Amino acid sequence: MKIKVAKDTYLVGIGVSPGIGIGEVSLVDPRPLVDQSLIEEAEVEAELLRFQQALDRARDQLEKIKQAVSRQQHLREHLYILDTHLLILEDEMLVAGTEKVIRARMNAEGALTQVLGQLRALFDNIEDEYLRERRSDVDAVGDRLLRILTGASERTIGKIGSKSLVVAHDLSPAETMQMDRSKVLGFITDKGGRTSHTAILARSLDIPAVVGLESVTSMVFDRLPVIIDGSSGVVILNPSEQTFKEYLERKQSYEYLEQDLEQFRELSAVTTDQVHIALRGNLEIASDVEQAKRHAAEGIGLYRTEFLYLGRSEPPDEEEQYQSYCEILRQMEGEPVTIRTLDIGGDKFVPELNLEDEANPAMGLRAIRFSLHEERLFKIQLRAILRASSCGEVRILFPMISGVAEIRACKQILGEIQAQLDREGIVYDPDLAIGIMIETPSAVMIAPLLAQEVDFFSVGTNDLIQYFLAVDRGNEHVAYLYDPMHPAILRALKATCDAANSAGIGVCICGEVAGEPLYTFVLAGLGFHELSMNPACISRVKRVLRQISKQEGELLVAKLLLLSTSKEVSTAIEQEMRGRLPDIFAQPLI
Ligand code: PEP
Ligand code: MG
Repeated sequence: MKIKVAKDTYLVGIGVSPGIGIGEVSLVDPRPLVDQSLIEEAEVEAELLRFQQALDRARDQLEKIKQAVSRQQHLREHLYILDTHLLILEDEMLVAGTEKVIRARMNAEGALTQVLGQLRALFDNIEDEYLRERRSDVDAVGDRLLRILTGASERTIGKIGSKSLVVAHDLSPAETMQMDRSKVLGFITDKGGRTSHTAILARSLDIPAVVGLESVTSMVFDRLPVIIDGSSGVVILNPSEQTFKEYLERKQSYEYLEQDLEQFRELSAVTTDQVHIALRGNLEIASDVEQAKRHAAEGIGLYRTEFLYLGRSEPPDEEEQYQSYCEILRQMEGEPVTIRTLDIGGDKFVPELNLEDEANPAMGLRAIRFSLHEERLFKIQLRAILRASSCGEVRILFPMISGVAEIRACKQILGEIQAQLDREGIVYDPDLAIGIMIETPSAVMIAPLLAQEVDFFSVGTNDLIQYFLAVDRGNEHVAYLYDPMHPAILRALKATCDAANSAGIGVCICGEVAGEPLYTFVLAGLGFHELSMNPACISRVKRVLRQISKQEGELLVAKLLLLSTSKEVSTAIEQEMRGRLPDIFAQPLI
């Protein structure tokens, strides 16, 4: 029976690799069917041998993939993932465990399935995002072995023929590495998070990807038309003609911007009226620094330190954090690094920190509220950040500030730590810049008051839009309302920039909006000094920035502020960009 999919079914997952993919679903076959049966005592030896041969074969397959991957410069740094899979093939629990079950007279695939189930249960009990993602490595190896044992064909994404959007429950790093950019237009998975190997690899391969969609595999079938936006995490199943046209247009602009990007790497990010707008990188894990460097990020505008706390039984101590921050500063070679204090809670859950279940976590004890509540943890992080400020230019950023009292409380604790370090004779930068995330409506409304307290603002549009428009980003039923160019958001951005500029402090935008070239002109016109984004977006944004003038951007903003609906604002921006840069923002072909 074919599943019925309504026109324009919007889903929202986690956009982990930017770009737009438009195509037809190619559903990657699910796990092979396994026949679990008891065997005769006399068959045990033969089954043990069959299992050993499967291990050897899996090793050969992985070695072959390794050889192919090592010929590709941009993937070499990820070879360790395949080594991890090779190590799993030698894992005692997996190998000896399966052999034990075979000896208890179970066929090889049945025994392996049982052991994989036990391993999965172990991971499940840990309930940890980071480890869950490591679990997928074990799953991938298990799947490979089961395919060999059951005679199912090897799941080789590299062999997908037509131009398709790969939909899978999960994709192993080995599978992701084999994707051929010319054949695979993007991928979508039920599972996965921002830091999964697969997400990191997708960014290296420059393949648009949305992960963490939970049950997309049960909603689609082969050849269903689908659109994915790897920046915003939006996936549209069975798009209407109108949506199709809109995204085709976006895709064409994106692809045009992709051409000859290399030449922009070395060029500065200045407008035609000579205004420099710093283009910085957002960082989730330290290893992404390499990507930021590759795309010539002018420093890090947002380091989401919460990812340091994931996947471990104890939070990182001061020394570990200090070393980690210094390493990033060292790699960024003198460019500033904006370290955001722990932004935990809401959709970013760290089980080890024992957050209580809350009825409304997005509005609960999250971000700075959590840090002020858990002062001991907060102080450890502040000491590490302050100490790291002796290694390079550090800026400290406090998330989700909703009132003046909150930032004063942060500054007071920071002052206490500074006094402590002074007493201990430990060096730090006494002039380190202090900033706050502007992501709540209250912060926008009192931006002039907040501007008196800090050195810079950084606007987090991902949350700001959610809170301003009362639209839960993760809820597909209201996702269509999640609109960065809603007149209310435009006014909020304007009020924030005006407050910062009047007070003479810095103003950056670090939500996903910053990496969308269609909005670069508007953001320059609003008065942002810095745009911080997924590093893969930097050159595209720079390309637009170098062809527009800030002054003309201000005129455009004045015009946009007279419009009443999101649609009117978006259409006006599209028309403006098409008129100014027709080669980039081309008309759709249909
Ligand atoms: C934001 O909210 O826009 C932001 C940059 O922070 P995060 O996505 O980490 O919540
Ligand atoms: Mg946020």
